This record gives sequence, C-alpha cells and structure tokens, in this order.
Amino acid sequence: MKLLYNANIHTLDESDSQVSAILIDSGRILALGEKGMLDSLAHGKVEKQDMKGMTILPGLTDAHIHIQYYALSLGKVDCETKTKDECLRRVAERVKKAKPGEWVLGHGWNHNEWSMSGEWPTINELDSIAPNNPVYLTAKSLHAAWSNTSALNLAQITADMPDPKDGKIQRDENNRVIGILLETAMQLVERAIPEPSIESIANAIESAQPILWKMGLTGIHDFDRRDSFMALQHLHSQGKLKLRVNKNIPVESLDHAFELGLRTGFGDDRLWIGSVKAFMDGALGPHTAAMFQPYVNEPENRGILNMDGEQLFEHCRRAADVGLSMTVHAIGDRANHEVLNAYQQLRQYETERGLPHLRHRIEHVQVLHPDDAPRLAKLNVVASMQPIHAPSDMLAADRFWGDRSALAYAWRTQLNYGAPLAFGSDAPVESPNPFLGLHAAVTRRRADGSPTAEGWYPEQKLTLSEALSAYTVGAAYAANAERRLGKLSAGYLADLIVLEQDIFSIDPNDLLTMQASAAMINGEWVL
Ligand SMILES: [Zn+2]
Repeated sequence: MKLLYNANIHTLDESDSQVSAILIDSGRILALGEKGMLDSLAHGKVEKQDMKGMTILPGLTDAHIHIQYYALSLGKVDCETKTKDECLRRVAERVKKAKPGEWVLGHGWNHNEWSMSGEWPTINELDSIAPNNPVYLTAKSLHAAWSNTSALNLAQITADMPDPKDGKIQRDENNRVIGILLETAMQLVERAIPEPSIESIANAIESAQPILWKMGLTGIHDFDRRDSFMALQHLHSQGKLKLRVNKNIPVESLDHAFELGLRTGFGDDRLWIGSVKAFMDGALGPHTAAMFQPYVNEPENRGILNMDGEQLFEHCRRAADVGLSMTVHAIGDRANHEVLNAYQQLRQYETERGLPHLRHRIEHVQVLHPDDAPRLAKLNVVASMQPIHAPSDMLAADRFWGDRSALAYAWRTQLNYGAPLAFGSDAPVESPNPFLGLHAAVTRRRADGSPTAEGWYPEQKLTLSEALSAYTVGAAYAANAERRLGKLSAGYLADLIVLEQDIFSIDPNDLLTMQASAAMINGEWVL
C-alpha cells in the first residue's frame, strides 16, 4: 500500500477535483482526500511518501502514435545539425561502435541549412568515415537520402542504372553516382536494409518507454501494424510493457480478425484491441488530402480519395458484425465528408441489427466543410486530433487551403458541438511530447511565438483543462477504458505523473519545457 500526501492532486474527476493525498493498493487507487482520513483507511504495511507540494495528474495518453517507428527512429543518428561536419562526426562515432557490415542509419539533415549554395553532401565524405559499413541518412523532408558506396553496392545501384519512375539517382558531370537519392530512388536502398526483428523492435520500444514517461505519457494508442503488435506482446509477456496500449489493427487484416472473431476491447488492461484503421486520403504536405474544391493555385488538384463512403461502409459493416469499432484517417474536407456518410450508415446499421453503438473515430479531422462540422457530435464519433499539427502546418494550410483553414484543426468547434475529443501526436511525424500539444492547443502558436501573440485562428483555442481532458478522459473514452483510466478516482488504475510545477498556474510558454519528475504505472514508480 502507498500513501502519497502533501501533494497538489488534480483528479480530473468532477466530484472532487483537487485533493492532497492519494492511497494506492495493488495497482489501483483505493481512495483520495486528506492525509488524516486516508491514514485511517490504510492498514497493514503502508509506504508513506511526502510529495512536498508537487503536482500530481493522471498519466497522459497519446491517442495517435506509431510506436514501432517512433522507437526505431530514436536509434538513428540524429543528423538535424547546424553543420555537415557535426553530422559526419556523429555518424563516424556510430560507425566506430558498429560491427563490420552493420547498417548505420540516420535522419534529419537539410543541405540548405548546411551551405549557402545548397550543394549536396558527397559520397566521398561518407566513404572516408565508413569504408566498411553501409550508411543511409534520410533528409528531414524524407524526400532525399544520402548514402555511401557500401550502401549503394548492397542496393546494387550502379552508374549506368536508369532512374526509377518518379525518382532520381543523382550523378556528377562524369556520370558517377554521388550517393544522393531522390524520391522513389530511396526505395532502392531501403529494400536492401534488413527488416528489424521483433526482438529488436521490442528492445527499441523498451528503451523508448522512459523517454515517454518523462514526457508525462503512461498510455498510447498505437497505429503501427503486425510487427509492432508482436513486439508489444513480447514485452508484455516478459512483464516489461509499462505503458497502457490500445492496439489498432489495419483494415487489410479485417477479414482475418472477422474469421477469428476478434473484438474491440479484447486483451487486458495493459494491451487491448482498439479499432480497425482505414485510410481515406493522403496529406496536406504532398497535396493529396481529398478536398471538395481544388488546392489554391492548382485548379486541377482536389487531392486523392482512396474510396467513397459506400466502399468504406462495406468495411464498417463487416467490422460491426464481429464487434470491432472503426477508425479512419481523413485529412481533407471531402475525405471527412465521406467518412461521416459511412458512419451515418453504420449507426443506422447498428440500430437496425441491435448491435452496440461502438466508439468509432476519425483520425486527424484536419479540415471540415462547414456543413459537416456538427456531424461528429451528432453521430457520437471521436475526433482524434493532434494539436501540434496546427502550428506545424499553419503556413501550408493558409497557402494551399486558403479560407478553408477557418475550420482546420478546429478542436474548439468540435468540442462546442459536443464531439468527444482525443489528442495525440502522430509521432514520429511530430514529437510525442503531450506538453507541446497542450501548448499548441491553448495558444495556437509555435514555440517561437509565431504567427502572432493571439495565435492562428485564435477562436479555436481550448482552455488548459479542456485540452488536458483530451489527453486523459477523452483518450480513455476513445479506447473504451474510461471506467479504469483517464482520471484519479477510487477504483481506477494507479497511473499518474508528478510535476514540479502546477500546470494550471504557469505561463503557457512554460509548457514547452515541462517534464514529469516521476511517473507511476499500476501503482509502481517507473520513473
Ligand atoms: Zn498516423
């Protein structure tokens, strides 16, 4: 039994929002209140801990993360450096530790940052520090990569090889390859890199856990696939999974799930099945998000719609028949419209068949047509959004969507209509740090203060308590876990974080540097 006292505890439970002590037994919260009262409830061996006025919150959940890709990305050499020399120094250091022939992967460089003239880095520079190890470094944009000779040899790239469709193998004036691969040419090397084993993915996730705890996360909703699921199960079976994981499954596996009779919620309170994930469209960056009207200055381009509402409904119906909820990636207003049409049919289908109304979600909800804005609430569909995308994408949104951006990343609109909100990051696309997301949700500004003090479309700002709710109670609801997670309440699982400052009494800019000083999962201090 643990008794934490002299704490500033925000329970996020309406009945008793602020208390000073919490009593924990066998992984669950036994009671909350004042120390004296909890003392009398405690029996047997009680470990008492003076929290010295620190703030306690329920552990936060990232409701949209790619845990496998995020964890593996942490093992890459960080090439987001001011100078090329610094990147080369880091690569050389990694090469020294690598076994002969072992791949050295890195990410984050930008040649325009490294030189005024924007010249490409060269193959010789990598060859001189890595003669015996293949090296593959992706650019921050992910549209270019820099490799050495050893990597090109393994990929069987030669000087006389033609460029692949939609890609380019850069060459010098003497037609020699210079190690720079653009767009689809990158896949030539990527295919030669051995797939990580389940065990190495599990190890990567295990090493990522302390980083996530420090960010205040005790739970995730994972959007990676089979290997990620296997790695999570591997960790769980060894007692090393110290995050609550809601595992979504790709729509291509729906038939198998149907045959197996797999349902949403199957598993235990550490790792359980979430929803079936489908993709409706692309993204804003490459202008592939499906829009009703063309992109600004591109009269022919309305993006790419992968399927219409009817086709999506066919998947939804099959999922509903076996008891699986749906979650669909939709960025553009047209894509969101089609998903809502499918969900409207799905709700009707559930009613007609006497099936439970499951927690269906839309991932991103990035821009909506005004007529569609109230429909998530009406259909009780979870708006799973990533606040950090608003400041990251605002310039692109203004430029390519124009005025339509008034209903882009519009979490205030969704909350006011009454849609359940769940917040995440889409890491590794963005940092999974939920405090950066909270900052974005309440300020609609970048860390550097841009675009203005008021923020981008400031009418969409949330209060801190509303935003926090989307990382806790809302995320729990989206994962069918609101009766055990998301707040600090008697009978709930003891997942909590400790902060040195009270986030409700600081300047929003201080959220940018906030870190958890301790984290507890299932009654156990993990950080
Ligand atoms: Zn994603």
